[in-house]
Amino acid sequence: MLNLVLFGPPGAGKGTQSQKLIEQYKLVHLSTGDILRGEISNGTELGLEAKKLMDAGVLVPDEVVIGMISNKLDANRDANGFVFDGFPRTISQAEALDELLRSKGSAISGMIALEVDHEELQKRLLSRGKESGRPDDANPEVISKRIEEYNSKTAPVANFYKSQGKYSSINGIGSIEEIFNGITDVINSYKAV
Ligand code: AMP
Repeated sequence: MLNLVLFGPPGAGKGTQSQKLIEQYKLVHLSTGDILRGEISNGTELGLEAKKLMDAGVLVPDEVVIGMISNKLDANRDANGFVFDGFPRTISQAEALDELLRSKGSAISGMIALEVDHEELQKRLLSRGKESGRPDDANPEVISKRIEEYNSKTAPVANFYKSQGKYSSINGIGSIEEIFNGITDVINSYKAV
């Protein structure tokens, strides 16, 4: 199985690159942000609770997203592998993911981090906000809060995978194809080992 964690701050291009990865390697895309937005549009209780936090730019509780991922892994037992996008976002989530995969006889192949500087992120998120209608992309204060959450809670997750020898980073600025080539080079290096 090829199980990738696509990592990087909001606006780094994880969603765009995930789409290309699932096509090329026939993987299942698991974006906790997309699953949560699905809950909101279906008007579920979970969605209503999550919306308040998402609109404020703060993380939803670990148990909520871990439960969602566990359900998706169970629902896709025959998958070739997964692209985890926007998950894990805390060390607890990373530990839980390792455990969930271990219980299925699988593991994370590697984390690939997309590196994009702060100024470029702000610019990308504001322009995405105008097009996507995502409320958390349209407000500069909420964007700053999301980047703050990323720096304090999510950035340490990179060390979790570094300590397992599973971390690679690539430049997240360039054309979609250039960045995708960088990602596939990393994936090919897994197979070479
Ligand atoms: P995203 O689409 O990945 O940018 O996520 C949008 C929002 O959903 C985030 O700002 C969080 O409020 C929430 N969210 C998504 N994934 C997670 C996660 N793994 N842990 C906690 N909150 C999450």
